[in-house]
Amino acid sequence: MKILKFGGTSVGSVENLHRVKDILVSDQESKIVVCSAMSGVTDQLVSLVEHVKFEDTDAITRSIHRLESKHSDVIDVLIQNEDIKGTLKDGLSLMITELFEISNQKYSEIINSQIITYGEALLTYIFSGFLNSLQIHNVLLDAKDFMHVETVENPNILKVGKRIEKVLEESTQSSIYITQGFVCRNNNGDIGHLKRGGSDYTATIIGAAINASEIQIWTDIDGLHNNDPRFVDNTQPISHLTYNEAAELAYFGAKILHPQTVSPVVGKEIPVLLKNTFDPEASGTIISNKTYKKGLKAISAKDGITAIKIKSNRMLMAHGYLRRIFEVFDNYHTSIDMITTSEIAISLTIDNVSNLDKIIKEIETYAEVTVEQNHSIICIVGESVINDKNSYKLFEILNYIPVRMVSYGGSNNNISILVDTKDKIPTLRFLNEKLFQVRHEIVV
Ligand code: ASP
Ligand code: MG
Repeated sequence: MKILKFGGTSVGSVENLHRVKDILVSDQESKIVVCSAMSGVTDQLVSLVEHVKFEDTDAITRSIHRLESKHSDVIDVLIQNEDIKGTLKDGLSLMITELFEISNQKYSEIINSQIITYGEALLTYIFSGFLNSLQIHNVLLDAKDFMHVETVENPNILKVGKRIEKVLEESTQSSIYITQGFVCRNNNGDIGHLKRGGSDYTATIIGAAINASEIQIWTDIDGLHNNDPRFVDNTQPISHLTYNEAAELAYFGAKILHPQTVSPVVGKEIPVLLKNTFDPEASGTIISNKTYKKGLKAISAKDGITAIKIKSNRMLMAHGYLRRIFEVFDNYHTSIDMITTSEIAISLTIDNVSNLDKIIKEIETYAEVTVEQNHSIICIVGESVINDKNSYKLFEILNYIPVRMVSYGGSNNNISILVDTKDKIPTLRFLNEKLFQVRHEIVV
């Protein structure tokens, strides 16, 4: 069994839904198809939640009607068979009524999750009906029946696997199962979500849970590129990546993948393919546990980074000092990305500032704290990248851009530098030219 996941753009229009259908029927192996909401829909649902928070009934009504007509228009154009069209429209009306009911309740985290994951429910319902209208047999599965994920960072794959097996046993046999990305149930069985962009993660959790032969993630780009194509010209798709490389790139800003995507399949022999819905023949990127080439592979950037410098003479030769600092961050569930230390100071970065005030207040009782916002981590990734004989070239950046921190040697596969976000694009371009444009043989 394969898993195929289609992102928001891939399912974002009638024309594209036809492309997805073509991709599905071009391969006979049985598959679970994980879909996102149509592009833009989750954003609209996020605004709907805001109206719910403020109990703005007019705005709620307008917002839901907009969503209804968007999906209703899709049904009109997509479905030729009048009976099926009628049935789907009735079903859509029921779902919209349910969305009204949910949206008229008092705001809570659960209501938030119920609303923002509704786009996936709408789209999969329509897409399954579309396949039926073409007599392509398929079964629509409700992801809430098996995606029981107690902690988003650490899903219980075995449990999900058992539930999926049960759901598959109880449903009609088919070679195409359609289900929703993004949505899950949490500890108490309440509806939750896997964070924005989480449908990729749904796909790999299911893939790991059923030991799929392959997971395909279909987007609108021909795989992961060696630099950010939004800011840098002449980037190239990377043909092979290891799980570690892909995880680092996804975590450090590569927008194409949700940061947690590869974690469920690490340690399993399940390749993850990144494919382009608009160019299905292009080979894309294969992520697996095989290292095809060592050395420099790609550069990515993560914005929204806050650098914190903690300085104290008491640190001089004192043991236990770092532990004391880390404990403060730990107590506030704030993870640290980069660290550098000197004899009397430590600099570190975080991306979640929700508890920063409290953290600073505690540390300020024994150290001087300076905070700098709006930084970006630029991450240079590749198996054994620190041994790549060309890596030294990246340090030429010091001639041009003020680099705030460098992390080298923390792992063999990642070198990170911290720059002010206003210097991010020049840094990416400079590194692209130095490290990739001048074509070199990578010798490790
Ligand atoms: N629809 C959700 C989002 O826009 C999940 C996803 O597309 O992966 O974040
Ligand atoms: Mg995505």
